[in-house]
This record gives sequence, structure tokens and C-alpha cells, in this order.
Amino acid sequence: MANDCLFCKIIAGEIPSNKVYEDEYVLAFRDIAPQAPVHILVVPKEHICCANAVDESNSACVAKCFEAIAKIAKAEGLDNGYRVINNCGADGGQTVMHLHFHIIGGMKLSEKVV
Ligand code: AMP
Repeated sequence: MANDCLFCKIIAGEIPSNKVYEDEYVLAFRDIAPQAPVHILVVPKEHICCANAVDESNSACVAKCFEAIAKIAKAEGLDNGYRVINNCGADGGQTVMHLHFHIIGGMKLSEKVV
């Protein structure tokens, strides 16, 4: 756990969240400011600051996140598709420096940006 990391505090239960999925490696909860009918954050329990810090020693956490994403999408009924977004660093728009993946869905998404 990293000091002063919002998502580490959520993982530790020190800050409440609207949890939708949890296993040994991953916690997923609803975004506090949703940008779509379904907007869920999928977070590795290990503190990794961002995509740039993924390496051989911790990349299994990323695989676990994507295993969770597939399960969550099914549970949320996102049968027609969804988008997974990772913001990295200042230019990427990352505001919480703990690696996370946004699941965005429940509507037809714009084809712009990606
Ligand atoms: P990013 O901008 O990619 O770093 O995403 C951070 C996300 O965390 C934003 O979409 C915020 O709305 C969301 N967020 C911030 N605080 C909380 C919180 N306490 N619970 C749930 N989501 C949060």
C-alpha cells in the first residue's frame, strides 16, 4: 500500500466504494463521476502507479485485471460491447496515480479518440 494513494485506501477499506467485483488481485468499483450508464474502475490491489510502471515483475496484475473485466462486462450485461480505457500520466489525463482501467459502456460510444 502506498501512502496517500486514494485507490490503496479504497482497497484497504479506509474509504468506501461501490464495489462490483473483488478477488485476490483485483478490486472493481463504480466511478464516483460516471461518464456513461456503466462506468467501472478496475484496479490491481498491488500499487502500480501507471501503465509506464508495468514490467516483468508485475504484469500478471494486468492480466488479472483483464480477466476481471471480462467477468464484470458479462455481469453488467454489456453484451453489445464496451470500451476499456487507461489514462497514463499528465498528457493522458491520469488523475489518480494508481493503475486502473475504466470500463465504459451501456450506450453507443463515440468513434472519436479511439
Ligand atoms: P483517471 O482520470 O484516469 O486517473 O481516473 C480517475 C477516476 O477516478 C475518475 O474517473 C474519477 O471520477 C474517479 N474517482 C475519483 N475518486 C473516486 C472515488 N472516491 N470513488 C470512485 N471513483 C473515484
